[in-house]
Amino acid sequence: MMKILILGGTSEARGLAAALHERKDTMVLSSLAGRVSNPLLPVGEVRLGGFGGLQNLTNWLQSNNFDAIIDATHPFARKITGSAFIAAEQSRIAHLVLRRPAWTKAQDDNWHEVDSLPAAAELLPEIGSRVFLTTGRQGLSDFSAQNSVFAHRKIHFVIRVVDPPDGPIPVNSLIIRDRGPYDVVSETALMLKHGIDVLVTKNSGGTMTKAKLLAAKKLAIPVIVIRRPALPEGVVSTTSIAGALAWLDQLG
Ligand code: NAP
Repeated sequence: MMKILILGGTSEARGLAAALHERKDTMVLSSLAGRVSNPLLPVGEVRLGGFGGLQNLTNWLQSNNFDAIIDATHPFARKITGSAFIAAEQSRIAHLVLRRPAWTKAQDDNWHEVDSLPAAAELLPEIGSRVFLTTGRQGLSDFSAQNSVFAHRKIHFVIRVVDPPDGPIPVNSLIIRDRGPYDVVSETALMLKHGIDVLVTKNSGGTMTKAKLLAAKKLAIPVIVIRRPALPEGVVSTTSIAGALAWLDQLG
């Protein structure tokens, strides 16, 4: 019996849990951070909440006798990815990162790529004044930090989040609560309705939220794209559920 921990919070993590669910030789536990109020749950056993940092994660892995960790968290979940990599190494547990491929810029895409949310906030006034902000509620304080500039430049925000913000938000904000997947028709309509002239997004990759990029392109709206953080050096990774299953099979 192989005991596997899936670090989740993504459609890939749910897909992997579903693919492993029927296997008789495998026991799977999916772990979610517990950040959203009504999370989409994977099939099978689930635990919710943080582990309490690297040392607690390492202790927890060792006392629960896991054979493998598959980190299928969001490409921007940098902290848990770093902790899981080190904890697995220290515990000599097989470790794989499953990350969907990043979106790539086509020649005719009007993208402004930056390395962080603060860099996006700083660039914003140069690009547009009616902003569709889709980077999630956690990073909103990086934008509100520029509120005096935004107020002076009369910048308005439409902010789409799953759960309502619980901290400071940018000036002149309209909050829309929604959860993907989205399609190009509705994304186009939303951008037109609010007179959007710049889209801000993380380079999350995947199909669930890609429609906004296609809509922006159709409407000739520039996009500020936040590049992904790098994976820890030396990490073994795959971009697909099939790749993760093949990796598990070769573990034996
Ligand atoms: P993060 O900065 O890497 O994690 C912050 C802390 O949350 C971690 O140190 C860990 O707490 C806990 N945590 C994160 N993922 C966990 C998991 N799968 N199971 C148990 N604990 C977890 O991550 P984040 O950006 O806050 O994202 C939180 C979760 O939301 C991730 O699981 C991710 O897959 C999902 N998500 C994130 C984004 C995004 O844009 N960042 C988008 C969609 C979904 P301890 O240190 O106490 O262990």
